[in-house]
Order: sequence, then C-alpha cells, then structure tokens
Amino acid sequence: MSNNKINKETSCMDDYDQNSITTDQALEKIFDAINPINENEVIPIRESLSRILAENIKANINVPSHRNSAMDGYAINKKDIPLEQTIQLKVVGKSLAGNPFSNSIKQGECVRIMTGAIMPIGSDTVIIQEHVLLSKSETEITIEHDTKPNANVRQAGEDISKGDVVLTKGKNLTPADIGLLASLGLSKISVIRKLKVAFFSTGDELRGINESLNDGEIYDSNRYTLYAMLSRLNVDIVDMGVVKDDKNLLAKAFGEANSKVDVLLTSGGVSVGEADYIKDILQEHGNVNFWKVAIKPGRPLTFGSLGKTLFFGLPGNPVSVMVTFYQFVQPALKKLSGDNANLPLMIKVPCISTLKKKPGRIEFQRGIIEKDNNNNIIVKKTGAQGSGILRSMSDANCFIVLPLDSNDIKPGDLVDVQIFDGII
Ligand code: AMP
Ligand code: MG
Repeated sequence: MSNNKINKETSCMDDYDQNSITTDQALEKIFDAINPINENEVIPIRESLSRILAENIKANINVPSHRNSAMDGYAINKKDIPLEQTIQLKVVGKSLAGNPFSNSIKQGECVRIMTGAIMPIGSDTVIIQEHVLLSKSETEITIEHDTKPNANVRQAGEDISKGDVVLTKGKNLTPADIGLLASLGLSKISVIRKLKVAFFSTGDELRGINESLNDGEIYDSNRYTLYAMLSRLNVDIVDMGVVKDDKNLLAKAFGEANSKVDVLLTSGGVSVGEADYIKDILQEHGNVNFWKVAIKPGRPLTFGSLGKTLFFGLPGNPVSVMVTFYQFVQPALKKLSGDNANLPLMIKVPCISTLKKKPGRIEFQRGIIEKDNNNNIIVKKTGAQGSGILRSMSDANCFIVLPLDSNDIKPGDLVDVQIFDGII
C-alpha cells in the first residue's frame, strides 16, 4: 500500500476535455481550410446525376413553348359560353399533340383537342370531354353556362420562361434537374470534375474479409463502410487497404497519397494508445489543424493537410467512423467539390426513449423515427449505443443529436433529429 495518487489524464471515458473543440468550431476550421476546386468537364446529361453543376443554366426557350391543353376535350372561346342554359358549337377540326389545328376558330366554333396539343388561335378555354354532349354525327357539341373560362390551358413559359436562370452553379444534380435540362433541349453540361478520395485502415488486429480470424483479430469493416459512403457521393475512390501499426509503413502510405489525391481518410490509430501514430506522422509530414472534437462518438478526430491533400484521421470504432464521416468529411467533400448544399436539416421530434447523456460533448445517438399508433411522429433509440456497435447504425434511420450541455433525456422530451435519407 502507498499513498501515491494517480493524476488521471483525460480519457475517452470523460465527457469534458479542455483540449477538445466544439463541432461548430471544427466545421469552421474545416471550411476555412478548403478552397473549392475549379476544374470542369463537359458530360452528357444522363451521366450527370449527383454531379455538381459548374455553370448557371439559363433557359434559351419557353417551356412549354406554346399555349397547350392540359386535358382531352374541346378548345373554345370563352365568349361563346352562354349566360344561361346551353349552347351548341360546331366542331371544325382537331388539334393533337405534335399535330396542331392550322386555322383559327371563329365565333360558334370549337376544336377537338388532346392533352399537350397547341391551343388554336381564337381559343382560350378547354372544356373537358366529360362535360360536353357530342352530337351523333360528332360535328357539334353542347356546352353549359357553368363552363369555366380560361380553364385547362397551360400558358407558354408557365414552367420556365426564356431567360430564367433555372439551375445555379454548385447545384448537386437530381433526377428532376436532369429532366429540366432535357426539357430545354440541352444534351451536355459542364460539371466540376470528380474528387479523388483515398483511404486506408490501420490496425494490427485487422483482417481482410476473405481471411480467417486468429485470436484477437477482427474483420476490417471500416473500409467497406467508407467505400459505401463515398460511393453515394460520386467520387473517385482509391482503396489503399490495411496498413499495420508501424510508423514506417504508415509514413510510406502517407507518402503515396501526399498531393496525389484530393482527400485522404484513415481510420484508427488516433487515440492515445501505444500504437496510435497517425497524429504524429501527420505532424511530421504535413500539418495538424485539430485533433480532438467534443463529440460522442468520435472525439479523437485528426484534421489537417498533407501537401495539397486534405487529411482526416477518423477514429477506429465503426460507429465513430460513420458519425465523423457524416458530420465532418461529407460537408468537407461537398464544399471542396463546389456543392452549394446546406448542412443537413435538423427537426425537433418527441423522443419516447430514456437517453443517457452527460454534459460535455455533443452526442449523435442512433434513432428510429416513425409514426406511433396515433399517427404522430416520434423518435426512439436503437438498442445499445456503444461506438463499436455497428448494428445501432444499421437499425437506425436518423441521428438523435443531443447538444453539448444536455443531460439525460426523459420520454416525451423534444430532441433534435437528423434524418438519414430523403426520397430523392
Ligand atoms: P483505434 O482507434 O485504432 O484504437 O481503434 C479503436 C477500436 O476500433 C478498436 O477496437 C479497433 O479494433 C476498432 N477498429 C479499428 N479499425 C477498425 C476497422 N477498420 N474495422 C473494424 N474495427 C476497427
Ligand atoms: Mg488501432
């Protein structure tokens, strides 16, 4: 027995840590360090899904280009609508989509018209076929006094007017955008070149998925989650495999990526363990901007640069990798690629679970947002929340975001939620 007391250092179990910066400060430092790339390529619109537009797109035509019918029916002039009872109009021709009626209509006349067909000169209203009485000889219709003037007509330029800026530089292109480009007759557009992102895992305990496991070994899952998360962002991916916890091998891997890719991501080796060399090597070969964020999971996060390459040293725990990727790497890649998207939307939702939380770090717990029996939107946690429990991410459809200073959450409390997927 002795009276010596251990002067405990901050560990990953503690919540307050004076060396940690907040997530907002971290994001600010990341954004400050990034200059969006400005290299473009011209590609066919079909290949442009999830690419970043490099130019403003101005409409060179009206869409639709002509006034046309929104329904199948008869094109009439509203002056012919009777004040009371009914009136007969003579059917003088047909206007089909792509095959217009070439004359104009006069008083007392109408034209059979189909959806999308050009409105004949002299007509301003479409009465749908179900609301008329067609004579046996099909040469005359009867319409009623309650026919609505100007109904069922799409005006020229109603969707897009010539000269409008329809898509702005920095837009992450969606299926609707691609349709919009096609509606303007554009076959090719200029987009920002794809980012090149490399990554490797670190750890002596890691094995490839085709190998068998010895005692104490685990399969390397982080490279697969990273591959999948990056695939969604449409970047060029360089998988550098697993690198052992060996200073020389790590330095060699850093050298292979240095200035050859836009971004290098690593996982593991950023804690304070004996074999956690990532921060030291970055310091030797590049620059460390910050290395600890007040976030759970994922506090040991190293950010810096390696020559012209941005560097993120993500933690090793599988959930920490995903949380830090979504909160820091994804916004960084978006900024670098010139994507003008905003940060993810947060909404407030009542939580039906008890959540354990100590002040000191922002926490990203994994949740399921759904409707309860009364059709109200609620959120609940997915089981155990350890940073190594990847099932908690797999079962989740949202993050429950608990601010730095918050304590435990009781059922019924409102919490901030970031939903994983929209529908497009
Ligand atoms: P580290 O940050 O290297 O101390 O790793 C923290 C924890 O994450 C340890 O339990 C590691 O075994 C685990 N880990 C590290 N890298 C990976 C990986 N690529 N796949 C799965 N687990 C990992
Ligand atoms: Mg390790």
